[in-house]
Amino acid sequence: MSQSQRLPGVDFALEAVRIKISRPTWEMASIQALKDGFRLMGAVPTGVYMTGLQKGAPILPPKKWMDVHYVTNDEIERRKRKYEKTTGRCSECFGNGDYQVAIGVDGPKYAKCKKCDGKGASNG
Ligand SMILES: [Zn+2]
Repeated sequence: MSQSQRLPGVDFALEAVRIKISRPTWEMASIQALKDGFRLMGAVPTGVYMTGLQKGAPILPPKKWMDVHYVTNDEIERRKRKYEKTTGRCSECFGNGDYQVAIGVDGPKYAKCKKCDGKGASNG
């Protein structure tokens, strides 16, 4: 999965959880959008799939052993600002200038990033 195929808010929500719980390898199994943030469920992987369709993907424990974390939109905004400051890249498109808006039968569809007008650079 390339960077441009990730949804910006989700990416920063995951990062915020990892920092909050000091578990940089924590992976999310599911994410739910709430009114003022996200609810993430996941765990630290117990390993990585070595073969099959999920090869390379993290192996997560059963749901009952997963933990749930909440991230507010404020926390996500803080992560975005930090990202833009440290990388100089736009936090919406990760510096790609465009981002995936849908997956159609002929592959993913991209749209020009509105935040940076397709330039990929942060304004700050
Ligand atoms: Zn952008």
